[in-house]
Parts: sequence; structure tokens; C-alpha cells
Amino acid sequence: MTKVKGTRPCAIVGNWKMHKTIDDAVQFARALLPLIQKASSLTYIAPPFTAIQAMVAAFKDSLVRVGAQNMNDATEGAFTGEIAAPMLKEVGAQFVILGHSERRLFFGEDNAFINRKVVKALSESLQPIVCIGETLEEYEAGETRQRLKCQLEESLAGISPESLSSLVLAYEPIWAIGTGITATPGQAQEAHHYCREVLAELWGQTIADQTMILYGGSVRPDNTRALLDQEDIDGVLVGGASLSVNSFAQIINA
Ligand code: PEP
Repeated sequence: MTKVKGTRPCAIVGNWKMHKTIDDAVQFARALLPLIQKASSLTYIAPPFTAIQAMVAAFKDSLVRVGAQNMNDATEGAFTGEIAAPMLKEVGAQFVILGHSERRLFFGEDNAFINRKVVKALSESLQPIVCIGETLEEYEAGETRQRLKCQLEESLAGISPESLSSLVLAYEPIWAIGTGITATPGQAQEAHHYCREVLAELWGQTIADQTMILYGGSVRPDNTRALLDQEDIDGVLVGGASLSVNSFAQIINA
């Protein structure tokens, strides 16, 4: 595979999960902006749904993109507790995280459902950030590649190469999420490289070269640089460390 890293943008994504009120979020935005003026990476933040609109307003005139942590594949209907793509667009969301392992684990989401959501997000011009990754058991059994291939094939089934070019992937080994255990840069690079091989096999080399693949799993200011130095790692998806202005700013400026 040719060295094309420099041709892809770098993105830092904060996933706030179920943290922060609207007030907290706006204060965060005000404190963050002056700290990231010189950053060359793209910054994305996914606050809880309730704070999206206020965050969009707080980041107006900046390059920070605000998005959602999840959505349903239906446009509207009797789906208590769910949120639809047009509703996210209405409040200014630009992207949506889909298939996060917490959604898969706690809410029973499977690849087929995630695939329908990806199709919907693309049709509504919401940029999907699709998460994939193996469990600890799969990792220990040497099944990482099979898991990644299956997730890529099934959650991206039927997506055209043109649509795929606006999608971002996030490799998040489940054993590294919120555990304090980060994949080593070498481990992460190997998995990212493999994802690119699968993309090349399924959608062709151009798509494989263009697709941004982020790493997620216990990213902190002190381990970001080494991860970003890897050829196939185009950014990071950050949970816990994105909740503090200082640590998130350090990661963005890494
Ligand atoms: C995540 O929520 O996707 C994540 C990677 O969390 P953390 O950075 O806390 O491991």
C-alpha cells in the first residue's frame, strides 16, 4: 500500500457520552476555543443531544464540528426515546457516531441495524463516524481480523464508493475503551492497516487510501502523538479525556 497519510485530514473527536449539561457544554466551548486556535487537525465534539444546539451556537464561526452520539434509521415514528436524522440536522449536527461498542453492548445494536443507520445518515448528509472493534476475548483468541472484516462488510454493506468517501471509521478495541489500557501504537497500526486492506478489497484502493480511520480507546494527552505518528492512524476518538478542556486541548494540539 502506498504512503498516502499526508493526503488525508487528521481528526480529533470528543465523545462525551452521558456527561455535561447545556451550561457545562457552553462553558467548555468558550474555554476550549482560545486554546486550539493553532490546531491543524479537525475537531469534532459529540455532546448529549440536549446540548447540540447550544454547542453549535457556541462554536459558530469556528472550525469545530458538533454532532451526535447516535440516531435511529427511521425518519419519524413510534420509537420511544429515539432521535431521527432530520431532528439532528435541524439543531445543526454535522456528524453522527454510529455503532459505538456501548450501543452494541448495552442496547443490542447489531451490524444490520448500524448499516441502516449509516445509509440514513449519508442520505441526510450527516457524516457517519462508524465504530468497529473486537472484544478482549476475541483479541486473546487472535480473532481481531475476522471481527473487523465482518463488522466492515456488514455495517457498510451496499454503501457506494462515492458515499464511502465522506464516512469516517473508528477502530476502537473494546478492551481499551474506558479501561486505561491503550492499544500500543504498533497494535493499533496493524489493525488500521488491516481495515485499509479490507476497504481496498471491498471498495478499491482509492477508497482505502482516502478513508479516515481514527483510533479510540483510552487516548490521553501523553499517548496521542505516538498513535498519530502511525501511517494508517488519521486521528483519535476520545471519551474520558475529552471531558476536560485542558486534556482535550492538549490532544487536539498534539
Ligand atoms: C470512547 O468512548 O469511544 C472511548 C474511546 O472512550 P475512552 O477514551 O474513555 O476510552
